[in-house]
Amino acid sequence: MNFLEERILKDGIVKEGNVLKVDSFLNHQMDIELFNEMGKEWKRRFADKNINKIMTIEASGIGIACIAAQHFGVPVVFAKKAKSINIEGDVYTAEVESFTHKNKNQVIVSKKFLNENDHVLLIDDFLANGCALQGLIQIVHAAGATVEGIGIAVEKGFQMGGKSIRNLGYKLESLAIVESMDWKTGEIVFREQ
Ligand code: 5GP
Repeated sequence: MNFLEERILKDGIVKEGNVLKVDSFLNHQMDIELFNEMGKEWKRRFADKNINKIMTIEASGIGIACIAAQHFGVPVVFAKKAKSINIEGDVYTAEVESFTHKNKNQVIVSKKFLNENDHVLLIDDFLANGCALQGLIQIVHAAGATVEGIGIAVEKGFQMGGKSIRNLGYKLESLAIVESMDWKTGEIVFREQ
């Protein structure tokens, strides 16, 4: 069992509706030492890739991406949630349905910060159905840039996202893959990696 799996067992809480609450260390209060270990591990797993930019999505991916970026020595660009009425010309856009909030957000990245010379590592806290990642991939492609890889903290392996992203041929590295979880007993089972 790796450091993130151990931490999830210690401090994660399984909620009804396939939601894993990790807000005491990952996406509300943030354990920066843990983020640092995650960054180090992604650097090891993507050592063969030439990455010049990390991209994530507002809000919970930002902290993780920033600490990871120190291991790659590259800047972070995050896709911003925008009100569709005030989107102006010089941005790439994608529509992303939120798993946790069940609403749709238009996300944007300025054309100033992404172009065809970029080799991007996408980072996010969770992978569930894959909507957030699909939006980010769409934006990278719109810019003519390249997705070199995808780093996820917690993948919920019983939902669609991981399978569909891997089927598209992307190198997807999730540090913990939850195979099953039960909100009644609190039991969490990880996929062997
Ligand atoms: P997806 O787009 O893959 O369906 O969902 C990914 C996004 O939903 C992540 O950025 C994350 O913020 C949120 N999310 C999905 N599942 C969970 C979960 O079980 N717990 C928490 N805390 N967030 C989740």
